[in-house]
Amino acid sequence: MLVSLVIPVLNESENLPALWSRLRGVTSGLSDVEFEAVFVDDGSTDDTPGSIRALPVDGNLQWVLVQLSRNFGHQAAITAGMQHACGDAVVFLDADLQDPPELIVDFLDHFQQGYDVVYGVRKNRKEPLWLRFCFASFYRLFNAIAERPIPLDAGDFGLMSKRVAKLIAQMPERDRLIRGMRSWVGFKQIGIPYDRPGRYAGTTRYSVARRIEGAFDGLFGYSKVPIRLSLFLGASVFGMCGIYLLSTLIGTLFFKGDPERGWTSLLLLGFMLGGANLVATAIVGEYVSRAYFQGKNRPIFIVAETARSSRTEPAR
Ligand code: UDP
Ligand code: MG
Repeated sequence: MLVSLVIPVLNESENLPALWSRLRGVTSGLSDVEFEAVFVDDGSTDDTPGSIRALPVDGNLQWVLVQLSRNFGHQAAITAGMQHACGDAVVFLDADLQDPPELIVDFLDHFQQGYDVVYGVRKNRKEPLWLRFCFASFYRLFNAIAERPIPLDAGDFGLMSKRVAKLIAQMPERDRLIRGMRSWVGFKQIGIPYDRPGRYAGTTRYSVARRIEGAFDGLFGYSKVPIRLSLFLGASVFGMCGIYLLSTLIGTLFFKGDPERGWTSLLLLGFMLGGANLVATAIVGEYVSRAYFQGKNRPIFIVAETARSSRTEPAR
């Protein structure tokens, strides 16, 4: 059996030696399995590709390097790794040792029991409190409105059978939330709880802007609820205005009410309607822009170069 380990890397040269020795520790204990570590270099500006090429190869663990032409983002890099993975099972893990390689043993056990998808579920996280709060809110909001819910506190760390990995790699969509796509495909899935440590070296490669972008991709790419919400908002504001207008008319005509009073409420209504209009237009804009970029049909990533450790082709 060949198992691919897909590892997206952006400026991770200081983490690579430690990651490699942990991986060798795990793989050497599974001598009847061949492993290929597929490193996807997502436009690093340090010597990450050089550090990968320098990794010592022996035993049943080899490396493959897929160098992208620039930074395409974490989820695009994972997709590139999936497309280049040859294994019967594909494991996804980050290079910063936040995804403990030792869990691969558990993942493979479950794979052999017939699970197509095995994913890690974070029992705790080491990120700052505000970020943990944002993650927790995002996943709960996502699940409240998404077409298909995703397991809470599960990231990309996990295993997929070859058929699931190929299915997801072939999906042409640009808004790629791999954990959402993984949940969407179905098959037999299971979550395994684990303690998520902090980063081994360096700081997160995600900017706040990138995280917000990712959250929007998730919410608008996997749900029709926002657009329904704008319909609901528009209809309810229209309805409320109608009732207000009707009651004013009846008051003026039959009960001698004074229609000139109530400037404040008019002003408020104007602002409210204007605001609701803008929100609705922006929501429509989100979907239109996504359809526009999808319609261009550009590739999700571009490969500049690939390399493989010098030992001959791995046994399949
Ligand atoms: N990464 C990547 N491209 C990016 C951002 C991150 O390939 O644009 C890689 C990064 O090198 C790491 C993994 O994706 O191996 C997860 O990134 P990070 O640890 O920065 O994310 P966090 O754990 O903070 O969510
Ligand atoms: Mg990390």
